[in-house]
Amino acid sequence: MIEDARLIAPGSSLEADLCIVGGGAAAIALALEYMKCGRQVILVPGGGPNQTAASIDLYRGKVSPSGTHEPLEENRLRMWGGTATVWGGRCVPFDSVDFAARPWVPNSGWPIKLNELKDYISRACELSEAGKADFDARSVFPNSQMEIVRNFDDDDFVTWPLERWSIPTDFSKRYRAELECASNVKVLLHAHAIHLQVSSDGLKLSHVKAACSPGRDFQVRAKKTVLACGALENARLLLASRDILTAGIGNSHDLVGRYYQSHRFGVCGYVKLKNPDQDFIYEFEKDPAGVYCRRRFWLTPHAQEKHRVANVVGFFFRTAAGSSEHRNAMVSTVLLVKTLLGGARKGPKRLFHILKEQRRELVSHLWIILKDGPSIFGQLTTVAYTRFCQKRRLPMVLPLKKTNHFPLFYQTEHTPHYESRVMLDEFSLDDFGMPRLDVAIKFSEIDYRTMTTFITLFKNRLEKSGLGTLHLSEADKEFLAHPERQDFNSNSHNIGTTRMSETATSGVVDVNCKVHDVENLYIAGSSVFPTSGHANPTLMIIALALRLADHLKAKS
Ligand SMILES: Cc1cc2nc3c(=O)[nH]c(=O)nc-3n(C[C@H](O)[C@H](O)[C@H](O)COP(=O)(O)OP(=O)(O)OC[C@H]3O[C@@H](n4cnc5c(N)ncnc54)[C@H](O)[C@@H]3O)c2cc1C
Repeated sequence: MIEDARLIAPGSSLEADLCIVGGGAAAIALALEYMKCGRQVILVPGGGPNQTAASIDLYRGKVSPSGTHEPLEENRLRMWGGTATVWGGRCVPFDSVDFAARPWVPNSGWPIKLNELKDYISRACELSEAGKADFDARSVFPNSQMEIVRNFDDDDFVTWPLERWSIPTDFSKRYRAELECASNVKVLLHAHAIHLQVSSDGLKLSHVKAACSPGRDFQVRAKKTVLACGALENARLLLASRDILTAGIGNSHDLVGRYYQSHRFGVCGYVKLKNPDQDFIYEFEKDPAGVYCRRRFWLTPHAQEKHRVANVVGFFFRTAAGSSEHRNAMVSTVLLVKTLLGGARKGPKRLFHILKEQRRELVSHLWIILKDGPSIFGQLTTVAYTRFCQKRRLPMVLPLKKTNHFPLFYQTEHTPHYESRVMLDEFSLDDFGMPRLDVAIKFSEIDYRTMTTFITLFKNRLEKSGLGTLHLSEADKEFLAHPERQDFNSNSHNIGTTRMSETATSGVVDVNCKVHDVENLYIAGSSVFPTSGHANPTLMIIALALRLADHLKAKS
């Protein structure tokens, strides 16, 4: 059932076997799995079917020092469906190496292993509509060449690892009908959790205090509660619920909010291949079920250990549109149209100014378009069709092979750092009176070294093998010399603030994602990841939520 919580009388007390706080991919996966056991579930999603100015404001917070992290209300959606209402759909599992305690990566190691998650990753792929959980090009595409560029792979790099692409599935829409029909599940649209009430001895969660608007509170009393609000809000709720446990729930060792991680990513240089028309697998490939897949350059665990760096991947990206260096007619067409329309909308004076200021770049874009002639029209139609008219969306428009200009994108693990943390901002409250967050993200030398090592090794390999060249601009060289100066944007990969650990002195939740020392409070989402890997987090978030559902169902 999906209900409007604004109709609940203030002061009411609702009862359930399980309360799920949150309404994103983690919460929905958990609800779908738990629903099958017939026990009563109440889901408090933190908003309605759309974001509103008021809900966006609930996510606002502070970044210390200012500018070192994206604004907290960007890239996180406070609503039913959560951030996966806008996600890209890239599905990547963690690698075995991510679970290992690596002596050269501080604070690494999970108390569980990848093998224990294999079945859950398969199910997560199903829920995400990303096909079969096979991420190895050698078995998914046995009849094609294994490597991205023939003869590139060596001891340091392999290129058979695949990423798979979800539709991208908006879980709140895709599974709405199932949830609506489930008589044992109640989704309380517009309800927010505003306090977690523990018993007087602090050992048990007694209820979740919820509200749709300030001053109109009600309670959800459940045998078990799972927080699935994303890594920033999970920590915030625990820290802000401090009437009995004065440091916050699960925080007796001052670990809630610490080890906050994200990923570092960006584009550095572009590749020119000696022969882009031959032995080069570059575009998205469809697996037998029609799911888009793409290969990636992965720095092997052996190379990670040899060079004492963290986990990292790369792939060729779409062109940055601003300059005409790419010689890609389609990108130039889009850019010209956007610039001219944008200018025209602001009036003739502004348009004239743009034409005057940018005439050189605009003329070179026009020249690229004229040279490519009518072929652009065909390409634009194909792209528009595959991107907007089909249920399964083409993940990204890539420059054509013949442009021979392939920007190198990298995405690296962010290693856990004790001082990288989210805290409460004691001086700023939201509409419900909850302290807002203060985020201080920190990186270590190994994070910077991982980026520069990856790019340097990639360049050496490409050039030594005679397969091509990685061209670096002055800005790229400056970045390689001073990677710490690069601007940071987390893109909603918020990880690690309630890390999983065997003991209460080294983490916030145990191997079953239960908060240490609180008997009926659990956490779902990337906040429980002890390390971040290079993988975009959602597939693993869902896999761990499904594992948690199994654990809870088995418990009682
Ligand atoms: C533009 C973009 C593209 C992305 N692309 C990818 C991609 O390709 N691949 C990938 O793996 N990841 C991607 N991500 C990240 C991905 O969207 C997130 O990892 C994922 O959505 C996290 O799911 P979640 O359920 O843990 O958290 P969220 O989706 O953030 O959901 C949190 C939920 O908790 C609710 N909530 C918050 N506070 C409260 C409260 N106090 N009470 C009740 N409820 C509350 C919110 O309303 C929301 O429903 C992308 C993100 C963005 C922004």
